[in-house]
Amino acid sequence: MKKIIFALAVTASIFGCKPAQNTVSEQPIIATLDLVNVQDDKVMVTVDPGDITAEEILFYIPKTVPGTYSTSNYGQFAEDFKAYDKKGNELAVVAKDVNSWQIPDAARLDKVSYWMNDSFDQKGESGIYSMAGTNIKEGENYMLNLHGFVGYFENMMEKPYRLEVIRPDGLFPGSALTVTETLAAPKGQKDIFSMHRYFEVTDNPIMYATADTATFKVENMDVLLHIYSPNDVYTAQDFKPAMEKMVRAQKSFLGEIDETNKYAILLYLSATPGEGDAGNFGALEHHTSTVVVMPETMGKEALISSLTDIVSHEFFHILTPLGVHSEEVHYFDYNDPEMSQHLWLYEGVTEYFANLFQVNQGLISNQDFYDRMNEKITSSKVFDDTVPFTVMSENILEDKYQDSYYNVYLKGALIGMALDIRLRELSNGEMGLLDLMKKLTDKYGKDRPFKDEELVSTIVDLTYPEIQTFFDTYVSGSTPIPYNTFFKKVGLEMREGEIPVDYFLQDQATPYITINAAGDIVVRDDLTLSTFFSHVGIKPGDIIKSINGKTYNVENIYDLISDSVNWEVGEDITVTIVRNGEEKIQKSKVIEPMSRGLRLVELMNADGEQMELRHSWLKS
Ligand SMILES: [Zn+2]
Repeated sequence: MKKIIFALAVTASIFGCKPAQNTVSEQPIIATLDLVNVQDDKVMVTVDPGDITAEEILFYIPKTVPGTYSTSNYGQFAEDFKAYDKKGNELAVVAKDVNSWQIPDAARLDKVSYWMNDSFDQKGESGIYSMAGTNIKEGENYMLNLHGFVGYFENMMEKPYRLEVIRPDGLFPGSALTVTETLAAPKGQKDIFSMHRYFEVTDNPIMYATADTATFKVENMDVLLHIYSPNDVYTAQDFKPAMEKMVRAQKSFLGEIDETNKYAILLYLSATPGEGDAGNFGALEHHTSTVVVMPETMGKEALISSLTDIVSHEFFHILTPLGVHSEEVHYFDYNDPEMSQHLWLYEGVTEYFANLFQVNQGLISNQDFYDRMNEKITSSKVFDDTVPFTVMSENILEDKYQDSYYNVYLKGALIGMALDIRLRELSNGEMGLLDLMKKLTDKYGKDRPFKDEELVSTIVDLTYPEIQTFFDTYVSGSTPIPYNTFFKKVGLEMREGEIPVDYFLQDQATPYITINAAGDIVVRDDLTLSTFFSHVGIKPGDIIKSINGKTYNVENIYDLISDSVNWEVGEDITVTIVRNGEEKIQKSKVIEPMSRGLRLVELMNADGEQMELRHSWLKS
């Protein structure tokens, strides 16, 4: 997964076996979604398990799904849960908890049915990340993250599924799945999909919307881009060139390691984030697709740049955890999940590669890459740097650790970077982290999970004895990574200077603004502000009331961040502030905001060895 805080991005992952899309012969479990007869914003779902031999049986809707590393309780959206026998008589049902129902007389069971609500328009989206959430906008858009609609019977998760979606005419199923057949249905059409097991149901989101798609081919892979832009601000064609350039660069970076032959990007653009529409931005990974949620109000350039970071992160999840993962991930329990120790690998290495490939393939400059790594170092400092990453990872669902999840994209990525530099050093530039990932993919791969506690010794076997010390010290140990020591090896140093920042964010975890008790946006007085604030005439403690005529407060603070992304240097800007109870209007021009701090830069007098190691790290 990758989720963005404020205007930033964050990503999620899914694991398991390759979804095959050929015919499924065994008698399938039939799940039906009726998108035509929506009632009170709810969709009727029925699940018919076929013959059941058990005396009693439990039906589950997921509590959590792979890649989100959080508890979601999708069962909270199910209402009016019923079980029927073959004659249509109701059977007794016992609700066990929010996500499970027991049917005591299972031998007579024909099917279960329930009304499913969606998460996008719930208050706070009921705590569910938008990219793992669901949308029902009758006749217009249905975001079918299927784990939020279709449940499973106990001990029947390995049975094949037949998914039947009754949908209005004119809507198109955006998905990596192939429609097996389409039949006429009253008031619409019925699309049929076949899956080999429940995991494939959850691994294959479908977005129904009017057809707005673009496709391109990169080597042997077909990439499909499906977009929903409610106000028709964007079309798939707007993003096709950038996405094609990005995927081409990723394939070139990965080399023969990747054998994916179909990949779908489902992009949902939220019109009114946080006000009855999706409000967290980022994406969740699946084996052959990703669901991305971004604000529709964002400018094209900023959106393309965010999509490049987010979608590339999701695509690299093909390496891990989709390709290389532990038993906890492989045998994922949707209602009683166990977490692996290796989030540094699944999310950290993925995030690191999503940045490294950009400098490797010339999409960003060396300095841009250093700035990104430096920002991760700064942002990661809000988290306790002595908590072993393996401990945090294993306990990520616990309250104590859940809040440090965002650090997987920060310190997790920095662990990847430090390991990469150390491997290059030990191998005289010959072996890097991507080479290690290739070796791990050869040894394990998507169908062969590793034992969580054996991964490090396997890595040591595949690399150098010194790598054991690296893990013992910085990953399972409590010693913070001495970044400067690693940077010195590749001829970099931290130097005091001007560093570029965002208008309202010093770094990903440090906004320049906060909210007061009345819900006003207030400029913080406990930080050194960027040059933007002094240039426009804003002081610590000022309330920002409106900018360019648009009023801002706690309700639309997201807008402030996303609107600012669209500002251009040199444009006029008018800010209405309240200082000491008095309203003031400040007129100025937009500048590139800078802050004083330590910037990671190349050593002026780096020696040959440092230069060579740097080159092999970034460019080979
Ligand atoms: Zn991720």
